[in-house]
Amino acid sequence: MSMNIAIDGPAGAGKSTIAKRVAKEMGYIYVDTGAMYRSLALYFIRLGIDKDDEARISEAVKDADVTIKYVNGEQQVLLNDENVTGLIRTEEVGNMASASSVYSSVRSKLLDLQRNLAASNDVIMDGRDIGTCVLPNAQVKVFLTASVDTRADRRYKELVEKGENPDLDKIKKDIEERDYRDSHRENAPLRQADDATLVDSSNMSIEEVVDAIINLCKDKM
Ligand code: C5P
Repeated sequence: MSMNIAIDGPAGAGKSTIAKRVAKEMGYIYVDTGAMYRSLALYFIRLGIDKDDEARISEAVKDADVTIKYVNGEQQVLLNDENVTGLIRTEEVGNMASASSVYSSVRSKLLDLQRNLAASNDVIMDGRDIGTCVLPNAQVKVFLTASVDTRADRRYKELVEKGENPDLDKIKKDIEERDYRDSHRENAPLRQADDATLVDSSNMSIEEVVDAIINLCKDKM
């Protein structure tokens, strides 16, 4: 049976940074499910669909095919065979992903892809509903969080490093809105699974969090 690690938590908690490191150390595949939602969001943006137009989004999603592949161990997301990995990290796409992922038509589109990856590989998969919905039988579940200020600050620094000129207050507001929407939606809301371990990374280094998760995995092996 394959080994499955589920990492859920709010935007900017450090899930992808941590999951990539754990994947490398354990020899697992890192599956970034947010990137899948982002690629669908890019599709809706390109079609000029309003984030609140559930009918058009549900119709459009039928023609969007999302697949992933790995190049040098890095996940690449393909949208109708176009590699969109480099196009989905903007705030616009993130906000559309958060808004459109509330719809069941969007979520069900990605569920099989996520479950099939976990069934045939040792994976560490991050998202919002991995421990609760996608992989309820994952051997290790972590709910990774950090304070809103810490998360906004991290996102701000990331954008500055990319050469952008971000507005910290706007980032904080977007994070709060996204947290609210992700945790209050009807379909697969963000919440800690009953059997998940809570890790608050506000005052922890990346190495400390990685070690904590690897120790949880070792206990299960
Ligand atoms: O993690 P990331 O910020 O890339 O995710 C973008 C958005 O996709 C999130 O705000 C969330 O609304 C949605 N998402 C989701 N379920 C997942 C992963 C992401 O609803 N498993």
